[in-house]
Amino acid sequence: MLLEKIKILAAEGQEENIEIRRHLHANPELSYQEFETCKFVQAQLTKIGIPFTVMATTGVLGIIEGKNPTKRVIALRADMDALPITEENDVEYKSKNEGVMHACGHDVHTTILLGAAKILWGLRNEFEGTIKLLFQPGEEKNPGGASYMIRDGALQNPTPQGIIGLHVHPGLLYGKLSFRKGRVMASADELFISIKSTGGHAATPHETVDTVLVAAQLITSLQTIISRNRNPQNPSVLSICSIHGGNTTNVMPTEVKLMGTFRAMDEQWRFKAHELMMQQAKGLAIATGAEIDFMVDVGYPTVDNEPKITEAAWQLANQYMGTENVEETELRMGAEDFGYYSQVIPGCFFRLGVRNASKDAVHNVHTPLFKVDEAAIAHGVGMMAWLGVSLFNDAP
Ligand SMILES: [Zn+2]
Ligand SMILES: [Zn+2]
Repeated sequence: MLLEKIKILAAEGQEENIEIRRHLHANPELSYQEFETCKFVQAQLTKIGIPFTVMATTGVLGIIEGKNPTKRVIALRADMDALPITEENDVEYKSKNEGVMHACGHDVHTTILLGAAKILWGLRNEFEGTIKLLFQPGEEKNPGGASYMIRDGALQNPTPQGIIGLHVHPGLLYGKLSFRKGRVMASADELFISIKSTGGHAATPHETVDTVLVAAQLITSLQTIISRNRNPQNPSVLSICSIHGGNTTNVMPTEVKLMGTFRAMDEQWRFKAHELMMQQAKGLAIATGAEIDFMVDVGYPTVDNEPKITEAAWQLANQYMGTENVEETELRMGAEDFGYYSQVIPGCFFRLGVRNASKDAVHNVHTPLFKVDEAAIAHGVGMMAWLGVSLFNDAP
């Protein structure tokens, strides 16, 4: 039976996969600069024997044809980029690139897809259909590497019936997976605001416009929009995370800059909120006499798990991991460029438990102490391979 075979192969490959993961972890690269990672993935695919093409500059698309390749087509996706964070973990495979760290586990995702690819290639005479392997760049940065993979044809010739992605989750114990149908993650847009005036002496505010006070008013009024114009049943969050202006006690600055992120679970509300925020900025500019530039960098769409493929993947996960190890995941305001794929074809994005307190693998993603229990790699590898051979198997 394929399931048992895959379990054995995932266990057998674990040692090599940990080596691969540690190599990637030690050599992280920022979004859209994954040149060495891209070469490494190509070398691994070449070693296995899997044909591939390079796309989206630093992305790789591998193709595995089983028997009867047109019968079903499944896409499996991994992201490869790291974050501008200085690693604080004291491990032998610590990041060698100062100030860059695989703090979102994309090294694990890439390893898992390589591991699954190796298994699928070995089993290619035992399943029907085609598996497309998407190794994408730039998940962490707008406009999202997924959008470039789609632009470059990753979802065409042939078009997959569905796409699967996973993400490590430090909130979930290793050995467990979690799924959710429908909307699972938020849209994310970045806000860049500049408030300008002539500046002036702190003792004569009447002769200029106090950009610091306008910034304070704007932040408060933007938060009011998000809390008062939105249906409370519709999750959405605005966080202004940066405020820069002035450098001494008695000079009112000519400019104050703000940056932040806006997240929503509803595309209609999302764009309405943009309008309301910009209107507020315009009104405040008129009322105060400040000049306000309000720029929204529209980012990733929501991630939607199509119910049928998600139900199928969930059932298959129950079979592979045991029902007791598969749970429903909560809605999160995080964002993922996987949302781009799931807007084009049915998608399922699930979470892989990597938490293990005894190994200090408890810290959140995007933190300098983020760590995973590497035992989860075998679970991810096996699951990706199992979904690859099993999904849509009864399709015409
Ligand atoms: Zn991340
Ligand atoms: Zn991530």
